Amino acid sequence: MNWLLLEPSDISPDGPVVLRGDQARHVRKVLHAAPGQRLRLGIVDGPLGIGEVLGTDPDGTIRLRAEWNPAPPPRPRIDLLLAMPRPKVMRRLWPVLASLGVGRIFIANAWKVERGYFDTPALDPTTIRAGLLEGLRQAGDTLLPEVSIHRRLRPLVEDVLPTLPAYSSRWIAHPDAASTSLASLPSFGRTLLAIGPEGGWIPDEVDLFRRHGFAPLSLGPRILRTDTACAVLLGLLQAAGA
Ligand code: SAM
Repeated sequence: MNWLLLEPSDISPDGPVVLRGDQARHVRKVLHAAPGQRLRLGIVDGPLGIGEVLGTDPDGTIRLRAEWNPAPPPRPRIDLLLAMPRPKVMRRLWPVLASLGVGRIFIANAWKVERGYFDTPALDPTTIRAGLLEGLRQAGDTLLPEVSIHRRLRPLVEDVLPTLPAYSSRWIAHPDAASTSLASLPSFGRTLLAIGPEGGWIPDEVDLFRRHGFAPLSLGPRILRTDTACAVLLGLLQAAGA
């Protein structure tokens, strides 16, 4: 936990910030916070800031004086369309995706996604939120990615995506794709990356994406696990300026 993230409802406009529960325990037991110590803070979907420890109360709560940055951090310009992986991988990915920084996550169906995957607790709003918050606390961000779940791929690509603000680049990650070098690309604007299911995209799906302006992107013939592909591709796109 590199940053302490507070819910907007935890903040009172005039009084000190009060930490309770796990976050207070972390500050006491791991950070050994003493009065005067400065801690990195954020408000979910709000600004980052710094908190100075004022003291610890007998019930274990911690009081802080907070100073907030004027504006929240910028929203990441990369969105991710991810074919639903196995539930245990999905659960592991929520914090990874939030720490890497994505604006929006479309969880999608694909031919090789098992139907039962959509009925798993890994897609419960509370699980999603807890995982994303863990990643934001790790990375020093406050903006929860927007998550939507799409049990049908084609209506997502054909009907939903065109209603969103335009992307300046769209990529479909596919090991068979003719290789595109990220280094040779002009700088990106808003970007959408589609990562396939564990069985891979089928040719019809690759065609569907191509017809909707997605350029194929390959990391070469070594097939990566979905979670590794997410981390590498999001990292590369960000390094290339997305
Ligand atoms: N059995 C599948 C295949 O052979 O295509 C493997 C799919 S892989 C576990 C899941 C997804 O990660 C792929 O659909 C693709 O989006 C992405 N991926 C994995 N390795 C990749 C690579 N070398 N280049 C581009 N994308 C890759």
